[in-house]
Amino acid sequence: MREQRFRAILFPMPKPRTCQQCGSHNLERRSATYPLTLPGRQINVERVKVHQCSDCGHLMPTPEGEAKLSRCLHAFGEMLDNLPK
Ligand SMILES: [Zn+2]
Repeated sequence: MREQRFRAILFPMPKPRTCQQCGSHNLERRSATYPLTLPGRQINVERVKVHQCSDCGHLMPTPEGEAKLSRCLHAFGEMLDNLPK
């Protein structure tokens, strides 16, 4: 029983059931350019694995996509730290 709960945490649902924005069930898995919004600027991360809503175009990163986004955020943060002040 306890192990089952762990599995649910470690392996999140591979496919969200509904769009977070409009509630549509028409979700399509693809790679897309995902706009990351940061305070004061936006960076476009290319080839992020997402589920895209076919109805409103809303992008929801898959767990794999989220991992890539967090790596990009980390790299971007280091780049800022290394800029001459
Ligand atoms: Zn939608």
